[in-house]
Amino acid sequence: MRVPGHHTRKDRLTRCPVCGKADFFTEIEGRDFESGTGRYRVECCRQCGVRFTNPRPTAESAFELYRTRDSTDYVRSNRITDRLRSLTIRRWIGKVTAHAGRFESVLDYGCGDGFFAAQLARYAASADITAVDLHEVPPAGLNGHGVVHYRSFGQLRREPKRYQLIFCRQVIEHVPDPQAVAAELEALLAPGGMLVVEVPNYRSVWRKLFGRYYFALYLPRHLLHFDETTLKGLFGRYRQVKLYRNHTPILGKSLGYLTGMPVGNLGLFGLGLFPLQVAVDRICRSSTVLALVLRKKRK
Ligand SMILES: [Zn+2]
Repeated sequence: MRVPGHHTRKDRLTRCPVCGKADFFTEIEGRDFESGTGRYRVECCRQCGVRFTNPRPTAESAFELYRTRDSTDYVRSNRITDRLRSLTIRRWIGKVTAHAGRFESVLDYGCGDGFFAAQLARYAASADITAVDLHEVPPAGLNGHGVVHYRSFGQLRREPKRYQLIFCRQVIEHVPDPQAVAAELEALLAPGGMLVVEVPNYRSVWRKLFGRYYFALYLPRHLLHFDETTLKGLFGRYRQVKLYRNHTPILGKSLGYLTGMPVGNLGLFGLGLFPLQVAVDRICRSSTVLALVLRKKRK
């Protein structure tokens, strides 16, 4: 996808978007390798430790980056990747729902291409499943999965319900105000309910190796860059059940950014490197994804 740079309007931040303090320093100077919208810095807040993208697209420009659903956030479907994703996702759903006990209502907050919600429908067929995202029209991945109710964020906010289980996967790093999203999730979750939050891990050993070329910086779509401490800090009001260190393929694109070659994460080359990526992360006790399982207190 190409988004001409002059169409992307940007806000320059003078304060940390999480704690509001004006005390930060530049850790990485990078650029948008996906759609050429310009150069961005990753700043580190001295007060709360969160990393944030600066400048960042304005709210209207940010929607333009996702409007056509053809960025890397929306995986191009083929039989091999669909099969692998389906296996990995259902294994993951089994693992985390073991903490949840019985649940009758599930929300996939930021469902992207709908693939995860469609797998939820296969795994928990009797549950009431809702998927929500930016667009008014459901993603193609939910076609034929009539049991999943699709809502836009606007519709969800007009008719809020409470859910016993909420997944928020690879979402909060995309939002301008993560504390507002954390508060919204808390309001949507039933007392005693479970929230699963996944973000890219800024402290992956691969970020240290690739620096500005590390795929998961994903400038400027990722507005925030979390590690274990800053992620847990955002959800301090919950009981923390477990932190999982998960893995998602990033080596293909990171090498592509570094060399200028058109290499993807999910092609044969990218997927072929995945076992190496996971092995190195495990040896270094790091990961590309952090998944925090949380329980809302009953008051
Ligand atoms: Zn801060």
